[in-house]
Order: sequence, then C-alpha cells, then structure tokens
Amino acid sequence: MAANGMAAQTQDTDNPGGLSVQFGKYIGIGADGNLWVDGCDVQALAQEHGAPLYIVSENELRHRYRAFRDGFLAHYPHVEILFANKSNNGLAIRHVLNQEGAGGDCFGVNEMYIALLAGTDPRKLVLNGSNKQDEELEMAIANGICVNIDAMDELDRVDAISQRLGRKVAIGIRLKLDLLPLAGRTGVAMHGPGTLKEQSDSTKWGMTREQTVEIVRRAQRMPNVELKETHFHLSRMSNDPENFAIMAREMIVWSGYLRDETGWTPPCIDIGGGWTFGKWYGTGPRAQIDDDRAPTPDVYGRQVGAAIREEAARLGLPLPMLRIEPGRAISGPSGIAIGRVGAIKQGAKKKWVNLDLSTNHLSWASALDWYYHAVAVRGTAREASELVDLVGPLCNSDEVGAHRLMPPLARGDFVAFLDAGGYTESSAARYNAQLLPATVLVADGVAEVITVREQWRDVAGRFKVPPRLLAASFGGARG
Ligand SMILES: *Cc1c(COP(=O)(O)O)cnc(C)c1O
Repeated sequence: MAANGMAAQTQDTDNPGGLSVQFGKYIGIGADGNLWVDGCDVQALAQEHGAPLYIVSENELRHRYRAFRDGFLAHYPHVEILFANKSNNGLAIRHVLNQEGAGGDCFGVNEMYIALLAGTDPRKLVLNGSNKQDEELEMAIANGICVNIDAMDELDRVDAISQRLGRKVAIGIRLKLDLLPLAGRTGVAMHGPGTLKEQSDSTKWGMTREQTVEIVRRAQRMPNVELKETHFHLSRMSNDPENFAIMAREMIVWSGYLRDETGWTPPCIDIGGGWTFGKWYGTGPRAQIDDDRAPTPDVYGRQVGAAIREEAARLGLPLPMLRIEPGRAISGPSGIAIGRVGAIKQGAKKKWVNLDLSTNHLSWASALDWYYHAVAVRGTAREASELVDLVGPLCNSDEVGAHRLMPPLARGDFVAFLDAGGYTESSAARYNAQLLPATVLVADGVAEVITVREQWRDVAGRFKVPPRLLAASFGGARG
C-alpha cells in the first residue's frame, strides 16, 4: 500500500471515506485537504472540543480487531482475541469490542470492573498480575474470570477463595519459556541492551518448567480448580513474526512436556500481545520502529498457525484453542492525539513549535521511543518543508516529536499525532498539574465525547491540607 501520491477518490471498500491519502482505513486526508477521521474533519472537531484532545475512530477500531480475528482464523481453526484492556481502558471502547466479540486481558480490580461493567463475557476474560491481591482473586473467581497463576502461593489462595465462595475457578499458568532459539535474536523495539531471550528472562513474569509442573500437579488434586490454559507474553520488542512463531512453537513443546509429566494437556494456549500496530506510513528519525516492513495480522497468523500445527503434529497433541492478546495493534492505529500550536521559536540551529499536547499525553514518545507520525491537521497534504521540534508545555524538554518535517505552522493551528490510540489516555499523567484531555469517539461522521476533559476541581478535590498547616499559614503564628 503506497501512501504517497493521490489515489483516485473512489468509495471502494478499502477506502470508504474517499480519502486522497490513507493513514489507516478510516483516517487520512479528505477532499478539503484536511485530516479526516471516520467521516469527521479533524479541524472542526478540534475547534469544537479543544486541545489537547484524543480522537478514536470506532470503525478503525473494529477494522483492526477484525483484521486480527480474520488474519488468524485464516490459518488456524480455533482463535480467541483478547483485547489488552490496559492499552485503552475507555468504557465505550470496551463496549465496541464486546460488540465485536472480543475477550480481554485484565490487570487489577478496575480493569475487570470496566470489562464487566461493559458486559464482556467473563469466560473470555483473563486476569494477569504478578502480585494479585485477595480482592482481585475474589472478583475474578466470583465472576468466572480465568486467573493466570504467576506465583507459587497463588494457587492455594485461589483454591481457598473458590471454596469460600463455593465457585469453581478456571486457571491458567503464566510460563517462563526457555526461548533458546531467541538467544541470538533482537528486535526493533528492545527495552535496552541484550537479546530477546535475555530480556524475557530478566522480567518478573512466569513460572519455570519445574514450578509449572508442580502447580499442575497440585491443581489436579483440587476439585474446585479447572486447568484451562498456559500463558506467555513476548512483549513488544520485536515485529518479526518468526520470533512469535518460535515462541508459539515452544508453548506447544511445553504442552508436550506437561502432558508427559502430569497427564494434563493444555486445551488452550494464550500467547499474549506485542503484535506491531503495523505502521506502513513510517518516516522520520525513529521510523525503524513499526515501519513499512511491519507484518500484518495475516502474516502473523500464517507463521504462528503453521508453527503450532507442525509442533502439535510432531508431538501427537490435539490442536489447542489459540488466544492472542493484541493491545496497541488494535487500539494504536484507531486513535490520534491533537495539540494546538502556540509559540513558535526560531533558534540559531533549530525551530521549536510549542503545542499544548505534552509527553504527559504521549508518554511513550519519550519513555519508550514510540514513534508517532505527526501531521498538520489543516492542509495536511501541504509539502513538509520545515524541520522542527514539536514540544509540549512541561518543564522538561518535553519533545513529543523531535526533528519532524512539517509544513509551515502558525499559532492556532492543530497538529495531529497518528497511531496514538494505545497507551496514551491509559498512561496519561498530570505532571506540572496538567489536566487530563477529553476523548472523542467518531463513527461515520458522528462525534461523541467518551472521556470528559478533566477539570481543576477533579485534581484539587484530592488535595488535603492538614489543619495545623492551615493554622500556621493563616493564623499569623509564623515565626
Ligand atoms: C501488555 C500486555 C498485552 C498487550 O501488549 P501489546 O503490545 O499492546 O499488544 C497483552 N498481554 C499481556 C499479558 C500484557 O501484559
């Protein structure tokens, strides 16, 4: 898919909005030359709702979900897509995904609560966590949510709570895969130095082979406990489908091992998230991340499906249910973040364009080198002729987009960051006493607020000043 040049403005099914340039299926440049999202002119949306602002395309969200569902189902018979809720916790987002039939991966009480509140089928929810609290376990068990065991004492706690509640509980076991074939391999988005195996080994997650066998044996003696899945999450370090296929194959190797040691064959393997959001329109200094070589869900599905089939046939195992937990791959490309241009400063060597959108709102731009493509909202197709640093208002350097080629911008213009639907609102911070932005959901030309812009009272309402400080401040007793 080429993003450059102007394609014919037809209403075909791959371009329902008749966009002249497509950044996504529903996000791109409209007939007026501005940025459009799902039938809405973003310039008008930003003027109406103000900045900073998150905008999510409902149709893009559904499209991304379906791409994963269809991409995997084309190559593997039993697939469940569990959306990683943490990537976008919006209640309306969860409703949309429920309508699509998605399950979900939850951390903590509140993520379970949001999913249940929206009516997600609890049998398609899993609870992950390295240090689950009693209230979490109780909530999961009371609602029939699968608990992915990740500590040696967790199973006994799960068993005790399930007995107390008189409820059966489905469990999974989060594995610490050996990943020997990944010992020499790295990816485009490593969390630091080291290979994929070293970085995976170094995280707190997962149980060793011996620990897993022990958990299975103990669970087999617990009448309340149903062993449902094994779980692994490779994380987002690599785009290469081969690494995911290697990991999926090892899940089956462990299934064979567990069968031989315990007689239990996992009926379901859950291989987590980390799937790229598939940026094909990648340019810029960090474009090696999620660039146009990023694989599609179909490519992931083909390679992972083949690896599982092959290994299961080799070991004489039935094909398990396959669960995947894409987060950013579904939510990321569905959303954009908008900032308004303020002061523009020309320095001796560079030019800074100040926005009211900060790394509070795109925290991964600085913390994790996530690349967000930036475009002008008005006249989006204009030639990008100026190299600028797009910066926010925070007290640090606050680079939301360093060294970006942009068309000329003026005070009052809006700038949009693409692929900002994942991990932005859900990780937004209030540093420098900033208020959290609003989010607007758009579908077929209709825009509705799904997260209300934070007001100062929301923040100030949490502050307390002890009376003794008030007395000292205002009682005239200061020394
Ligand atoms: C974060 C996470 C995901 C989603 O990761 P993405 O990179 O957003 O796809 C899935 N599963 C688990 C267990 C996670 O921790």
